[in-house]
Amino acid sequence: MVSKMQLHSVGEICPGYLMADNASWMPTIEDLEKDVSCETCIHWEDNKCNINLFDKVLTSLDQT
Ligand code: SF4
Repeated sequence: MVSKMQLHSVGEICPGYLMADNASWMPTIEDLEKDVSCETCIHWEDNKCNINLFDKVLTSLDQT
């Protein structure tokens, strides 16, 4: 189970992070947009990264 903290940390250093700021499917984006996290990334789908960067970035986090 991935924690919010991990989603946040990964989002901060992920080279693939893209804010889903013009995604009309996310009406609460105003509350979320200050929060860099996989949850606000356009690549986050069904609780996973749809370009498979998550595991890679999480691994590099663990090494620091
Ligand atoms: S969803 Fe994927 S691309 Fe987006 S920040 Fe997370 S790991 Fe990176």
